[in-house]
Amino acid sequence: VTIPQLLREAVSRFGPREAAVFSEQDIRMSYYDLDRAVDELASGLLALGLDKGDRVGIWSPNRVEWVLTQFATARVGLVLVNINPAYRLGELEYALNKVGCKTLIAAKSFKTSDYEGMIRQLAPELDDCEPGKLRSHKLPHLRSVVLMDDQPGPGAYSFKDLQNLGGPAQQLRIPEIDKTLGPDDAINIQFTSGTTGMPKGATLSHYNIVNNARYVTDRIDLSETDRLAIPVPLYHCFGMVMGVLGAVSKGATMVFPGEGFDAAQTLDALASERCTAAYGVPTMFVAMLEDLERKPRDLSSMRTGIMAGAPCPVEVMQRVNAQMNMQEVTICYGMTETSPVSFQSFVNDPTDKRCETVGRVHPHLEVKIVDQDGQIVPIGTKGELCTRGYSIMKGYWEDPDKTADSILDGWMHTGDLAVFDEDGFCSIVGRVKDMIIRGGENIYPREIEEYLIRHPKVSDVQVFGIPDEKFGEEVCAWAIAKPGVDLTEDELRASLQGQIAHFKIPRHFRIVDEIPMTITGKPQKFVMRDLMVKMVE
Ligand code: ATP
Ligand code: MG
Repeated sequence: VTIPQLLREAVSRFGPREAAVFSEQDIRMSYYDLDRAVDELASGLLALGLDKGDRVGIWSPNRVEWVLTQFATARVGLVLVNINPAYRLGELEYALNKVGCKTLIAAKSFKTSDYEGMIRQLAPELDDCEPGKLRSHKLPHLRSVVLMDDQPGPGAYSFKDLQNLGGPAQQLRIPEIDKTLGPDDAINIQFTSGTTGMPKGATLSHYNIVNNARYVTDRIDLSETDRLAIPVPLYHCFGMVMGVLGAVSKGATMVFPGEGFDAAQTLDALASERCTAAYGVPTMFVAMLEDLERKPRDLSSMRTGIMAGAPCPVEVMQRVNAQMNMQEVTICYGMTETSPVSFQSFVNDPTDKRCETVGRVHPHLEVKIVDQDGQIVPIGTKGELCTRGYSIMKGYWEDPDKTADSILDGWMHTGDLAVFDEDGFCSIVGRVKDMIIRGGENIYPREIEEYLIRHPKVSDVQVFGIPDEKFGEEVCAWAIAKPGVDLTEDELRASLQGQIAHFKIPRHFRIVDEIPMTITGKPQKFVMRDLMVKMVE
């Protein structure tokens, strides 16, 4: 099915039920309301002169406008381009031009980012053009800018303008366009997190993401009685596919606690909205557990959820089960390029399996683990995980070389190190790029992180390698202390002695206030590596 079909089905089955709550904007809407608003916006998009296949960028934190734009673009076959909310000038220019966006829908600002200022700086022509008639030197494809503000300033439409722009002529065209939509059409360009370098734009079809959203929510038994908290960014597949499309495929209610992630705000929403499920990356859950210690909340309505995106220490998983009342929480593994999920636990898998593995493969996917030469390795041996099937992206947008490098004979090479057990449970042990080879020994940072996170004074820790003349690479660890406690590098080193082989004990420790993160909350080891190299020089 297509995304418009998915929404139509939800509207006909669950119409009057609550579809979404945006706590920070104080907005609630039923499936009927959602459908009407999407229709209105879709006809506005057509009135801008956009045609099926045109690219529309969205640059915004989690707001109602995001979700409306997601469905409205799909309804008229426009390709939605997710622009990272953390981007600066150069990155914005790169992304918009790379995919040739004709329209950009943006928040006016978010936290310290002045989106409007950056847009006007890149396209100063906006100041003296009519809305919708932009001709910009630096952004040659862009024709219209829509700002989520009632006073959008010269040359730009407000979001309200866009909602009111369409008329009967456009309304009539919507069903016509609908007949031409096929499940295999490109409908979305999603950028990866940028954990290992510059984000890459994956082109995905209706078929890719609608099916994945269904399988993901099947495994947590999501239904129309569930209220799912989505504190993860909509910009990313975790929010827009697993969150929005997942909830709509089951008629559940989406609860958006805030525009960006905030632990206290999320916990407040879980309690006041009587949520039953929540999504997050492990670092978000770590922050929530900490806040919960400061201020307990009533989480008795909670049941399930998904932790994904990065390895989850066993300790964190157990605390989420017990302290957040999420006994049925599952772990998912996937990547933007595979729509995203390919492995997930079942809610009734044994606790140790749910803690230590990412579960078993999703339906209709093939997986294998290979060595450096591409040969399949025996069960129990570590190697690179490859996946094949319905969910593999169409490719990186207009980048056949990069696509060919990562998809070989239909197999997506994930760049992740993994190992299977006899029962088909998969463990992710790190990234191929993050594996440390010290004096010929393969060292998996994850293993060392598992030890250090158990230290009572540690709240977060990251282990990575830096180049070393003698050993090839040396092991480094960065740790954040729990609030108000004194933690020393020697204490950390001593805590590992006798616990793990001496060559795995980091040579360099640093106690830091902050770990460089992507907007999706993933630690960027390439940034830490660069910083650390300078520090030890
Ligand atoms: P980039 O490709 O730009 O460097 P990224 O790979 O982090 O960034 P995403 O597509 O957002 O971009 O994330 C996919 C990656 O996240 C996977 O390849 C894997 O390394 C990691 N990941 C996802 N889920 C899990 C999980 N449950 N356990 C461990 N790692 C995970
Ligand atoms: Mg990646």
